[in-house]
Amino acid sequence: MTNEKIQYNNGHRHKSKNNNHKIYIGIITTLLLAVGMFIALVIYSNTLQRSFQSEIISSLKESANQSVAILQNKIAGKIDLLMEISDRISTLPIKDYQKTVDGLDDTCARYHFKRMGIILPNGDAYSTDQQFMNLSDRSYFKNAMQGISTISDTLIDRIGGESINVYSTPIYEDNHIVGVLFATYASNDLRNLLAVPTFEGEGYLYLVNREGTCIIDSSHPKSYKNMKNLFDSMLTLDSNNKDEVATLREHLQKGQEGYIKFNNHGYRYMYYAPLGVNDWNVITVISADVLEKKMNQVMYKTYSLSASLLAIFIMTLGYILITQRKNRQIIMDIAYVDPLTGGYSYAKFQKEFPAVLADVTRKAAILNLDIDDFKFINDAFGYREGDNLIRYIWNILSTWVEKDELYAHQSADVFVALVFYDEEEKLRERLDDLCEQLQHYYIRHNNKVRIVPAIGIHEIMNKTQSQDSFIDAARLARKTVKGKMDIFYAFYDEAIKESIYHDKEIEATMQDALNNHEFIVYYQPKYNADTQQIEGAEALVRWQKKDGTLVPPNDFIPLFERNGFITAVDSYVFKSVCRFQRSLMDQGITPVPISVNLSRMHIYDLDFIEKYTTYMEQLQIPISYIQLEITESAISDNQALLLDVLNRLHQLGFLILLDDFGTGYSSMLMLKNLSIDVLKIDKSFVDNIGDHRGNKIIDGIISLSQSLDISITAEGVEQQSQYEYLKMRGCNHIQGYYFAKPMAEAAFKKLL
Ligand code: C2E
Ligand code: CA
Ligand code: CA
Repeated sequence: MTNEKIQYNNGHRHKSKNNNHKIYIGIITTLLLAVGMFIALVIYSNTLQRSFQSEIISSLKESANQSVAILQNKIAGKIDLLMEISDRISTLPIKDYQKTVDGLDDTCARYHFKRMGIILPNGDAYSTDQQFMNLSDRSYFKNAMQGISTISDTLIDRIGGESINVYSTPIYEDNHIVGVLFATYASNDLRNLLAVPTFEGEGYLYLVNREGTCIIDSSHPKSYKNMKNLFDSMLTLDSNNKDEVATLREHLQKGQEGYIKFNNHGYRYMYYAPLGVNDWNVITVISADVLEKKMNQVMYKTYSLSASLLAIFIMTLGYILITQRKNRQIIMDIAYVDPLTGGYSYAKFQKEFPAVLADVTRKAAILNLDIDDFKFINDAFGYREGDNLIRYIWNILSTWVEKDELYAHQSADVFVALVFYDEEEKLRERLDDLCEQLQHYYIRHNNKVRIVPAIGIHEIMNKTQSQDSFIDAARLARKTVKGKMDIFYAFYDEAIKESIYHDKEIEATMQDALNNHEFIVYYQPKYNADTQQIEGAEALVRWQKKDGTLVPPNDFIPLFERNGFITAVDSYVFKSVCRFQRSLMDQGITPVPISVNLSRMHIYDLDFIEKYTTYMEQLQIPISYIQLEITESAISDNQALLLDVLNRLHQLGFLILLDDFGTGYSSMLMLKNLSIDVLKIDKSFVDNIGDHRGNKIIDGIISLSQSLDISITAEGVEQQSQYEYLKMRGCNHIQGYYFAKPMAEAAFKKLL
């Protein structure tokens, strides 16, 4: 307990289960979020990949189609050119070949042909570069002789060994083919046409025929070097391409366009489209790297964005958890730390109680402690001094409790403790020690004030009973020693239980009793001290049970004051008195003023003045026939309110009596401010008449009242000597057994 307290004061506490719980939820949420994000990213990257892929394919296709258009255009242009020249040659005297060929020089240069020439039907050729060869075996020659104008596949030039393509077209004379016009074109020039930059230089093109035979290869660094046949290159360089080559082969055979993904140092995409010239096809290729690069760029951004989001989420979550924890800590401190002592609050005490009680093997008891008249210390010395006293008690309790015992400041000057013991005798010894310690208290380091502890103890016999019932029992036990100067503690016992039972019984029957007029009014006359004439009376309530027994007010008034029923009884008495006065008046008897007691609770019922006066008006009772008694203890409750109520009553013409004067803490100076007409000296002072100090007190009260113009009534006067002393000192009225006891209405009427 002590250890725990220190921990508590320092604010170090193990995390609550609830708190851990929240952290777990936080972690799980974060994990779920991360997994969710991961799945979303995978889906996203797949979609992205697919869309990039289709974007790449369509770019490849576009680029292939573009090349197709360029090549078709170029080749068709050249063939048209040859056909045009061939037409011209037909009109020339064909026999002079060399001369005709020489006439082509300009054209040859203008169109960047390597050479142009004419081939005779026997294959002998005349060319612009003066080379003579027999080209009868060349297929372009054979095609042209068949009447077909073509461009040849890539051939090796017989002169110089360069790669060439040859355009050829027949030369007609009278609708007979008399020779072939040809133009040789360096493959390199054709290749230049294909070297259109695609994908920022990453893509490249081939021209192959249906068999895959290379027509034009690519100079691109990533392309197949010295490619003779595309299929062969694909197969020899990577055996994984078998299926792709089969597809490609099939499609080229059929003259279809399409794409494949194949392997050549990583994946590449290939698009193929027939050129429409010979059986040639334009092939565009791009490495999948490009796609990956693009993908990576986008994915990198996406990943960093997701990571940032996740980080922000985690940070926010962390922040929330931390602030929540702080707030909880603050709330817990508010709820569980008593601000005055820094120790356990009552809430904390209640929370810890069951576990501590369950753990203990010794006997256990609940203590409920306060000190008598704490209010007096607050009122007389100020709240700071009151707080000091609370801390003083706390400190004593802190050293007094034993290991594992629980204690807390409950409210005002009330403390609770759960203590352990083996024998009741030992517990009593400890209690004696505690009370002894508590009684030495110094206010402002010089004023020694004896504080009187009041402790109620309830021994816990049955641990299964409710915690509140234990604490209640201890509190009730404490109430029994309240105001007793020589007994400081009491154990909850049968008698207390009995009185609680008694109270419960009263509470159960009080309303019926009021309805059934079981409450009756007794009157105790007040006598003029000089003339000994009756000049007034006090109305005192009695409870006459159905069986006829009379219950004195002290048996039920304190309970009614606690439960609030007193206001109902007071106004019942008030009305009874009014009716009594009315009946006297009706019978022609002159009434004397009768005082009724006003419980302090009336101060808070702002309507009561109106209710009282209305009732008196109804019965036409002069205001002077009813007087009001207010006990002194009501003054310390709420002075401002009381002052207001008294002033209003005074203005209405009521006479106000201050009851039980000298038993509360009202300062004599306060009398000056209050609208008091009569001061009732309490019986306890009258009892002390005869004693030197007792006389002095009476003398003081009387002379003070006289100086303030306040009339004096002495209560509880039983002896002649008391009466005489009071009369001698100038006391105005006497109320007490010496003259008359409280009596029933009929008896009082007779007396009047
Ligand atoms: P209290 O207002 O101080 O009333 C005076 C009490 O002193 C009465 O006791 C009265 O019977 C008693 N008494 C009068 N002269 C003598 C005497 O010479 N010797 C002794 N020993 N006692 C004397 P009671 O009637 O038992 O009333 C007790 C208290 O109950 C009252 O004290 C008052 O505080 C309260 N009480 C009685 N009736 C009412 C009521 O209608 N309303 C309220 N709010 N309180 C009431
Ligand atoms: Ca009274
Ligand atoms: Ca009194």
